[in-house]
Amino acid sequence: MVKIAYSERYIYKLPEGHRFPIAKYKRIVAKLLDDKIIGLQQIFDPGMAGKEVLLAHDIEYYNKVVQLALQADEIRTLGVPLHEASVNRALNSVAGTVRSSENAAKKAIIYGDTGFEINKEHHKSKEDRNLKVDLVLKAVQASKADPEMKADLESGLDPKLEAEPMMHSKQRAIPRPEEKMTSQKVNSGDFEGSTTGLGISIGGGYHHAFYDHGEGFCIFNDLAIAGRHLIDKGLAKRILIIDLDVHQGNGTASILNKDENIFTFSIHGSKNYPVKKQASDYDLDLPDGTGDKDYLYHLESALDSILKQFIPDHILYQGGVDVLQSDQLGRLGLTMMGCKKRDEIVFKTIGSLNIPSTLTLGGGYSKDIKVIVQAHVNTINTALEILG
Ligand SMILES: [Zn+2]
Repeated sequence: MVKIAYSERYIYKLPEGHRFPIAKYKRIVAKLLDDKIIGLQQIFDPGMAGKEVLLAHDIEYYNKVVQLALQADEIRTLGVPLHEASVNRALNSVAGTVRSSENAAKKAIIYGDTGFEINKEHHKSKEDRNLKVDLVLKAVQASKADPEMKADLESGLDPKLEAEPMMHSKQRAIPRPEEKMTSQKVNSGDFEGSTTGLGISIGGGYHHAFYDHGEGFCIFNDLAIAGRHLIDKGLAKRILIIDLDVHQGNGTASILNKDENIFTFSIHGSKNYPVKKQASDYDLDLPDGTGDKDYLYHLESALDSILKQFIPDHILYQGGVDVLQSDQLGRLGLTMMGCKKRDEIVFKTIGSLNIPSTLTLGGGYSKDIKVIVQAHVNTINTALEILG
């Protein structure tokens, strides 16, 4: 039974007119239950992330966030208010992705047939981090909200950006360790009844959070944290992050820039936020209005190319649905069916690799919240049909 991380903490009241559709999370879960795609027993509250956050974030930034001490301009860049509820939400979301990926990896190790060997080596700096984090966590308990601090709510994601309107892909030329196929069984689509672990984190996908600052509605980068956490705990050796949100996973790319065991892959609108793109290991910038056919072709080609050089043992997927034509912040032109096919390609690829994976939902800003909810439900349903 696939477990789904979700919490009532994912929802707090944003000011009227805020662009972030925070109500979608509750509606997604309600629809999953109403449509009998999942049962109540599959949902779990992941609790709050603690020291894991420092695997991907600067302790000073973390301190400022949890003590509600960011400056007004930093909050403006963040694009969401900073108060106890928003910080709890961020920590809860991180925990959702961390716990989901952990569960998926453990399930694959116990029941799967991946030939995976547990790596018991931990980072040398881990003990240092733990000491610092304990101090931080004590400070959190004592922290108070500053009522004067308010975010500029319109500043999170700016759709009015200028960039080259042409499709191009680029790949960072970094040396990768020699990979052998012997540890993984790539069995070309034969994944019916797979016991491969699948984790679903409803609140995840905060790919714009950087090491030392947050932006674009993202406080902490759950993808980077979960990726490093899996490796830190010996639950994965080589992780592929597939980010198909319409906005580039700039924070993820930046944080993991030097991590040779985590491969970052992003397909995004070339003219979409962020203006200044970071270098993922593989970036694909698409022009405005790119439709289903071109998008799916480029996705398949890129995955093909990546998997020829990097064989992951865990995939973290950011499946933002702001690729839809109806999206108010996105500039691509996928239909609902195209978006579903995109997810099918990703999950079938994961199935053919027979490795654990974790789904995070990412962005979605269509005017009609029902469209956003339906698209996210489609993604989860597709994951469960193929990998569940
Ligand atoms: Zn997005």
